[in-house]
Amino acid sequence: MLRWSINLFRVFGIQLAVHVSFFLLLAYYGYDGWKDGGFGGLSWSIALIVLFFVCVVLHELGHSLTARRFGVRVPRILLLPIGGMAEFDRIPKKPSEELLITAAGPAVNFALVILLLPLCWRTLLSGNEVAEFSSANLIAQLWLGNLLMGTFNLLPVFPMDGGRIFRALLAIKLPYLRATYWAATVGRILALIFAAVAAFYFNRQITCVLFLFIFWAGDAEYKHTLRRDEEERYWAEMSRRMKVAEAAGGDSATPPLLNPGSN
Ligand code: ZN
Repeated sequence: MLRWSINLFRVFGIQLAVHVSFFLLLAYYGYDGWKDGGFGGLSWSIALIVLFFVCVVLHELGHSLTARRFGVRVPRILLLPIGGMAEFDRIPKKPSEELLITAAGPAVNFALVILLLPLCWRTLLSGNEVAEFSSANLIAQLWLGNLLMGTFNLLPVFPMDGGRIFRALLAIKLPYLRATYWAATVGRILALIFAAVAAFYFNRQITCVLFLFIFWAGDAEYKHTLRRDEEERYWAEMSRRMKVAEAAGGDSATPPLLNPGSN
């Protein structure tokens, strides 16, 4: 599904790509703007979505450029209607590194909130007096968008940023796999609670679906971590046996562990 994407251009050597479903989002908001404000409404809505996604890219660059400092390769940033996804070749297991990489994303949003505030505080205070499709309202909406993006991502729901920060904090004391297990478990419970609250209390079906997707993603990432951990232990055990065999002067005829999945 993630293959349905179009490469745009490179930023800091990282390929920026957009998933085709993103254009459905543009069409949806464009039509919404057109209905309420004709051509002006249409261009205002498209401009807001594009600027909002520029902020999403900046958020992902926050993660990516910090990750690169720790030697992680970042081949691509993919934009989806639900947000951005920086693709790392690996996730550092050192809690301090994961903490910094993860916190850098929301930190970009909060920096934008501070930078945009002088341009929009009057609009924010004046409430409904500002024209809907004005540039003043555009900046105010962008300010609000960054505040929400920063805060929403910090919810401790794994694998969202807040959940990853929670995992990194747990990993200071616990083994990495246990830390992932607990972060994913707490995340899944919270994702279900948030999904129910969004659907039944706020009547926000899209937010509900988003949390169900996060529930699934948390589960998938835990299983992926589990598999990788088993593989690593398998190869560590293999190399230990080889060394033992070599030290014993044997011809390394030690039978290999045939099932990497078992302990
Ligand atoms: Zn993030």
